[in-house]
Amino acid sequence: MIEVSESHAADVMGMPVRRALPRRQRRTVGAWCFVDHMGPVSIPDGTTIDTAPHPHVGLQTVTWLLNGEAVHRDSLGSEQTIRPGQLNLMTAGNGIAHSEEGMDGRHGPVHGVQLWVAQPDHTRHGASAFEHHAELPIVELPNAIATVLVGSLGELASPARRDTDHVGVDLQLRPGRTTVGVDTAHEHAVIVVDGAVRIADDQVHVVPGHLAYLGLQRSDITFEASDGARLLLLGGTPFESTVSMWWNFVARTHDEIDEANDAWRSGSDRFGDTGSRLARIPSPDTPWRHS
Ligand code: MN
Repeated sequence: MIEVSESHAADVMGMPVRRALPRRQRRTVGAWCFVDHMGPVSIPDGTTIDTAPHPHVGLQTVTWLLNGEAVHRDSLGSEQTIRPGQLNLMTAGNGIAHSEEGMDGRHGPVHGVQLWVAQPDHTRHGASAFEHHAELPIVELPNAIATVLVGSLGELASPARRDTDHVGVDLQLRPGRTTVGVDTAHEHAVIVVDGAVRIADDQVHVVPGHLAYLGLQRSDITFEASDGARLLLLGGTPFESTVSMWWNFVARTHDEIDEANDAWRSGSDRFGDTGSRLARIPSPDTPWRHS
């Protein structure tokens, strides 16, 4: 049984995004708790998309561009340009602030995915960190090229940090049929970023704007793309807790979120300074607290 949910259409810094996670009926897939498919969108010459400094707690951001580039800055002092084929992985732990700047149209339409991984209890109160991986493991499969962003696919393992047992793979499908072996202990989901894919045994058709949830206990998944397609396969052991997510924070309780929000508003060194020339993004009020 495959459950297909419609993504929520949102706008992030003027960029159209399809928010595939979280959805009401599906909050997490493994530890994956947020999936935004951004663009593709052409932006006018001479303009850039800039996401000003904002905080995170309790999650890892995974940035994967299909087209375009951006500069990541964070309060650890990192400054890193990311290009297609490269991975930025930022671990928030107890708190970090970052900005993403200078996405422009020099390289064609801006297109990518921004994903969050919920951190487990044993690391979510810990130190923040940032990793850039200029190269990732790539494998040729029948009718496909797989890039392992996080976790492993068969013998191939990504060097990216992982605090839980989860996996993220980019699959570029050529016309035809491709079978991918997966871990039976993982639940899996698929988003399509380009083209259309049929998940063969279930005859489910997936296009951009859908999240196809495949559940647990599959040992392989077969994709068919008559005209070629590109997708992300996400999976992992079901997450240990129910997460509480609001704005840029992933926690377990509203009190934890209020505490993080107060710290951001007061300019506390819990989040630090990114060194960006852009003004910090002010946080909204939490809906459950009336002051
Ligand atoms: Mn962010």
